[in-house]
Amino acid sequence: MDLDWKNLGFKIIKTDFNVRSVFKDGKWGDLEVSSEEYFPIHIGATCLHYGQESFEGLKAFTGADGQIRLFRHGENAKRMIRSARGILMAEVPEELFMDAVEKVILLNKKYVPPYGTGASLYIRPLLIGTGPEVGVRPAKEYTFLVFVMPVGPYFKAGFKPVEMLIVRDHDRAAPLGTGHLKVGGNYAASMSSIAEAHKKGFATSMYLDAREKKYIDECGPANFFGIKNNTFITPKSPSILPSITNQSLQVIARNMGMKVEIRPVPVEELAEFEEVGACGTAAVITPFSKVVDEEKDISYSFGDPQTPGPVTTRLYETLVGIQNGDLEDSFGWTKILD
Ligand SMILES: *Cc1c(COP(=O)(O)O)cnc(C)c1O
Repeated sequence: MDLDWKNLGFKIIKTDFNVRSVFKDGKWGDLEVSSEEYFPIHIGATCLHYGQESFEGLKAFTGADGQIRLFRHGENAKRMIRSARGILMAEVPEELFMDAVEKVILLNKKYVPPYGTGASLYIRPLLIGTGPEVGVRPAKEYTFLVFVMPVGPYFKAGFKPVEMLIVRDHDRAAPLGTGHLKVGGNYAASMSSIAEAHKKGFATSMYLDAREKKYIDECGPANFFGIKNNTFITPKSPSILPSITNQSLQVIARNMGMKVEIRPVPVEELAEFEEVGACGTAAVITPFSKVVDEEKDISYSFGDPQTPGPVTTRLYETLVGIQNGDLEDSFGWTKILD
């Protein structure tokens, strides 16, 4: 493939194939391969009217050895099962999920970016209610599909800190709502505040807990972490989506001899952190140089605005190294596809 791997960005690029399976009459059908980007859907499908939809996002990388490595896809399979349970959709069995992901990568092998470009293959599994219902009730039919696209390095200008805006006039998810599930509704709910943060020149918005507005919840579509006293600290909240990147960083931090704390994190604690950032599949880590609490007229700054802190950098380099095969995968997180 002759793509400009370094300048791909993060956008839809047509690849050759996607895979699909339909749940009908109480069971999942065989995986079908398609080269169509469109598919017909009943105008009454529950995904269109009542938000019965869940998605996942994960990546595959080419190593220096030319082999394709897939990162922790079993965890994405498990999370999609939890999302399906949470909004009463048919559950995609772990095995079907993993087979579909592996198959769609191999079918689109030529789109997996080469080693050394910083680019990767982004994999997007999707589960939607395709059966029609006009009353508010779960569909009887579901479609599971997986498509892929090559994406560029998240930080075109290198691994650089960004500035964040705390939003106090908006919530992404209710305390006992669907924040802990990877469902589209949460994203629809976050769009206006993320757009607002962008308009003011910030990378994205930082949400506080919806009940008391005292604790840090999430940062746009990514988890928050802070570093102080050799400790990796990340919020515990029922409305946070459990990030696989975050869980992996916790394991790496412990392995580096750090302590890990998962507990409510008061906003004011930002004044005590040595380093802070967000984590998720897209960027692995986005370090913050500044967090602005406009309403309280407080601004928190962290280290050099041009360079991520030393702990953040080490965590980032370790995880990226495991993902692309430069470092030994002592945790058994990657699967080599061939
Ligand atoms: C997907 C997602 C994350 C990141 O999860 P990863 O498994 O690390 O990619 C964090 N927060 C939200 C709201 C998400 O949807």
